[in-house]
Amino acid sequence: MPQDLDSIKEALRKFAHDRQWDKYHSPKNIAMALTVEAAELQEIFQWMSEEESASPDSDTLQAIKHEIADVFLYLLTISRVLNIDILDAATEKLALNAIKYPLDKSRGNATKYTKL
Ligand SMILES: [Mg+2]
Repeated sequence: MPQDLDSIKEALRKFAHDRQWDKYHSPKNIAMALTVEAAELQEIFQWMSEEESASPDSDTLQAIKHEIADVFLYLLTISRVLNIDILDAATEKLALNAIKYPLDKSRGNATKYTKL
């Protein structure tokens, strides 16, 4: 099984290509599918207390793992379709977030940057 990002991206590309699913992979469709998968992840936690959500049983943890993977795979797919380097994008956004949320104003609170 592929364990590095490039191998996973290639296996994912081949998976879709072999099934002739590329025609369905418009950015719009992938963005919608990504949202659905994120909602499936949310659904697992729905109605749990915060404490319960922090210590899921093994079956629930396995379900969480699979939904996280679904979200990740759609992120990789939309990145490929739009020719965006996902690691560059994440690095760039982390740097922007550090500017939006300066340590002296953000430490210990969850206030949105527009209200800092
Ligand atoms: Mg799913």
